[in-house]
Amino acid sequence: MANFNRAYSENVPGDFFVDDTCIDCDLCRQIAPSVFQDEGDHSAVYHQPGSASETRRAAMALVACPTGSIGTQHKLDIREAAASYPELIDDNVYFCGYASSSSYGASSYIITRPEGNVLVDSPRFAKTLVRRIEQLGGISLMFFSHRDDVADHQKFHEHFGCSRIIHRADSGGIDTERVMEGQEPIKLDKDLLVVPVPGHTRGHVVLLYKNKFLFTGDHLAWSESRGGLIAFRDVAWYSWPEQTKSMKRLLDLEFEWVLPGHGRRAHQPRDVMRRKLIDCITWMEGN
Ligand code: SF4
Repeated sequence: MANFNRAYSENVPGDFFVDDTCIDCDLCRQIAPSVFQDEGDHSAVYHQPGSASETRRAAMALVACPTGSIGTQHKLDIREAAASYPELIDDNVYFCGYASSSSYGASSYIITRPEGNVLVDSPRFAKTLVRRIEQLGGISLMFFSHRDDVADHQKFHEHFGCSRIIHRADSGGIDTERVMEGQEPIKLDKDLLVVPVPGHTRGHVVLLYKNKFLFTGDHLAWSESRGGLIAFRDVAWYSWPEQTKSMKRLLDLEFEWVLPGHGRRAHQPRDVMRRKLIDCITWMEGN
């Protein structure tokens, strides 16, 4: 729970504040951009909510925050915000909120499908979220983009009885029922294609759903400031040249959503997304 005595001085006066436990994961700024802003290495409140909808978004950021760094000076009823996750993005794809500090606040997603729901990377195992996922039909498969974003997977596995899948090269020390091998694309089902993209980690993979949604983990994200797709060179733990090569593999795919673990999501027409991907590869090759 956030502590007002440790609130950053940059918070504007009012009910909401961010304290000094913030890990700068960016989630609150994505969820409630009219309330939270970047202050270099942390977030702070730059505008107190002035309407019911702003208060609701700020409360949703409070719920999603992986470190409990957002607080209010007065007691806030967060039941509605807590029950608002998973939040629909498009079609049958949802954002889970409830980020975990063990995955550094990475975003996770759920796809609801008649063949069985897929949880993409792991959120925090929170009671309200688990109940909502039950209402959506539970989880058949937990898919891991890479080893860093597995968070509370064991609890989800035990609760929902779902199988878990990760690439062999990232599987060390992580219990899963299935392991992907090699560097060729793998069809998990008629609408689910996995593409290995070593770079951020050796066993990083992305998941393409219905040729529309690309779940990119920490491989690829959108940058508001650049107005384009980006990769994060300073966290290319395995190999930046490999990550650059891997990025070219995505040119074989069609998609209009980029849904990352870290960084911003993007929704663009397919042809625009392709152009942005080419720009990103050109930038990577020059860096
Ligand atoms: S969601 Fe929490 S940890 Fe992440 S930037 Fe906001 S206050 Fe910091």
